[in-house]
Amino acid sequence: MAAFVLPPPAPTTLAVAGTDAVFPVGRVFCIGRNYRWAAGETRPDAMPAWFMKPASAVVPAQGVLPYPPGTTDFCHEIELVVAIGQGGRDIAPADAEARHIWGYAAGLDLTLRDLQQQAKQAGGPWEAAKAFDHAAPCTPLVPATVGGHPRQGAIWLAVNGVERQRADLADLLWPVPELVAMLSRSVALRPGDLIFTGTPAGVGPLQAGDTLAGGVAGIGQFTLHVHTP
Ligand code: MN
Repeated sequence: MAAFVLPPPAPTTLAVAGTDAVFPVGRVFCIGRNYRWAAGETRPDAMPAWFMKPASAVVPAQGVLPYPPGTTDFCHEIELVVAIGQGGRDIAPADAEARHIWGYAAGLDLTLRDLQQQAKQAGGPWEAAKAFDHAAPCTPLVPATVGGHPRQGAIWLAVNGVERQRADLADLLWPVPELVAMLSRSVALRPGDLIFTGTPAGVGPLQAGDTLAGGVAGIGQFTLHVHTP
């Protein structure tokens, strides 16, 4: 084998709840709008958009969250995170849970909303708004062999003790098996991939000094302190 000219980057890993083992994070896919944000809103016919974050944006959801540079609108989006254990392309929805999903976590799709709005207006890419360092905190993963496949249960987020987001996993417009199937028609999924499944209504800005708490029932919960820039 050829020698590396630099030491290869260490893999990003996520803790696995209840064990000393870790999950190697490959790629991070994020699903766009996938809950009703207003009463009576109908499910669009088209599947939601998806985008990516680098694996390096994944950090444990604990301790300090640095307020990122270059923004004045640093926003929280609480999401159910799906971890892929077996890859594949053109996965049938009926096979997603049985064969491909390894486990679940609670995560944050942190977003620089001002930069995202600028990108939307300019017709430009979203990476500056979505792919910054520490942009994807996650709780430890719960293996499906232990926790099953959650179809319902609360997903919530509070800032300084005031609830901002609350929904039920049953409210997902496109359920998890459909999302896995959809992504696998565009990209061959690989073991280690994470999928952030969209956030409920109530997204909003964070300030330095805020304490952020959130979670998904039966999967995980976290507390984070937003660090003064
Ligand atoms: Mn999101």
